[in-house]
Amino acid sequence: MAKQTHRPALLQRLPDRVVGLLREIGQLGDERGCQVYVVGGVVRDLLLGHITLDLDLTVEGDGIAFARLVADRYGAGLAVFERFATARLTFPDGLKMDIATTRRESYAQPAVLPTVQPASIEEDLYRRDFTINAIAMQLNPGQFGHLLDAYGGQRDLRARTIRVLHVGSFQDDPTRIFRAIRFEQRYGFRLEPTTSRLLAQAASTNLIQQLSGPRLQNEIQLLFAEHNPVRAIARLVQLKLLRFLHRRLCYTTNVRRVVTAVPKALAWWARRFQDSVVDRPIVYLMALSSESSPAVVAAMIRRFALSRVHAENVSTGGSRIDRALKQLTNKGTVRPSQVYRLLADLSDEALVLLLAKQVARQHGVRLSLLKRHLLTYMKNRTVKTALTGLDLQSMGLKPGPQYKTILGKLLDARIDGMITTEAEERAFVQKRFDLVG
Ligand code: ATP
Repeated sequence: MAKQTHRPALLQRLPDRVVGLLREIGQLGDERGCQVYVVGGVVRDLLLGHITLDLDLTVEGDGIAFARLVADRYGAGLAVFERFATARLTFPDGLKMDIATTRRESYAQPAVLPTVQPASIEEDLYRRDFTINAIAMQLNPGQFGHLLDAYGGQRDLRARTIRVLHVGSFQDDPTRIFRAIRFEQRYGFRLEPTTSRLLAQAASTNLIQQLSGPRLQNEIQLLFAEHNPVRAIARLVQLKLLRFLHRRLCYTTNVRRVVTAVPKALAWWARRFQDSVVDRPIVYLMALSSESSPAVVAAMIRRFALSRVHAENVSTGGSRIDRALKQLTNKGTVRPSQVYRLLADLSDEALVLLLAKQVARQHGVRLSLLKRHLLTYMKNRTVKTALTGLDLQSMGLKPGPQYKTILGKLLDARIDGMITTEAEERAFVQKRFDLVG
């Protein structure tokens, strides 16, 4: 039987509306004759004094039927994943909640997804990744706030330790290797010695290679989405795990410097351009692969099944950015229109990487120059010409590829401040292209 302590005050730290909802759901559990628990990250974080609202509930009984009931009662959106006996609810106010059936998992072979069977809450906690994530809190009235901590989760939280529940844990599911690094770095915890040994052992085999690309990519993405993943990346290097991004990924001192410079570049970017939404994990992936050959990058993109946008980003990480950087940090003057031409087809992620590359070079003067160019570019990138193709036509210009050239030259002149009005644009076209006014 799991060790229980009564800690209702812990749950009360959640926002009132969430506590109210959890109480009502516990009540619903009693009405249906099933035990309902909140489990995993929310409980861990409450015990650590943090509030997270990624609610994971687990039900001793039919979790999906229970999820339907909750969704009906609150008008929540519902997505059901029968195979894993889980459902995801989205409440009208945007709150998300996963509801699952308590279950045991068995792995037909390492690294594949498990088959699941209904089981007790203790077994459900035992299938989890680490003791700190295997603590449940009951929601039924009378037991509201009862902590079930069968495997020493609270002890490990106090000792700031990550510990697996059994020796086969990383074999069953190698994604836990990345999860362990994620929690270790996020909370500044240590791996408990046996866990550390098991992790190193699993990392030294080819188990991770057996994970599907999207599952591996998902873990990497989560790791890189952490507040500051630089130390986590250093851990991947130390454990020789980068080879699972690609076995010929080129990780040089320079790549390490660029990766280390990314948080600074991201912070500067976020301060200056608050409307720009940057996909931070992709910037790290771009930085990591920035000195790898196009063939290696292409293979990584294929294995990870990256979206087209992400794929385009990751493939511009290398020489394309270096060329732009070279020209932008040269001593001679670069006109605003030239800056625009150098940067116009780069995504914001690529621009952050460009900045990180310069931060890594530790050349203050050139860095200031580059920052000025970026500020100019971001101001200019919304500039448009007043004239369009139709206007050129009505001015007597024969339609054709020259339109692109003319409009391009007009835009350059606008960006360089040589012309500011439509009348000046017309005069510019007439003069440059020999039209009769
Ligand atoms: P985060 O704060 O990063 O969201 P979390 O602990 O909430 O962390 P989730 O991925 O949302 O992480 O998972 C919820 C819970 O499900 C975990 O706390 C853990 O109990 C369990 N879990 C998730 N992934 C695994 C896994 N690969 N193996 C075993 N248990 C897992």
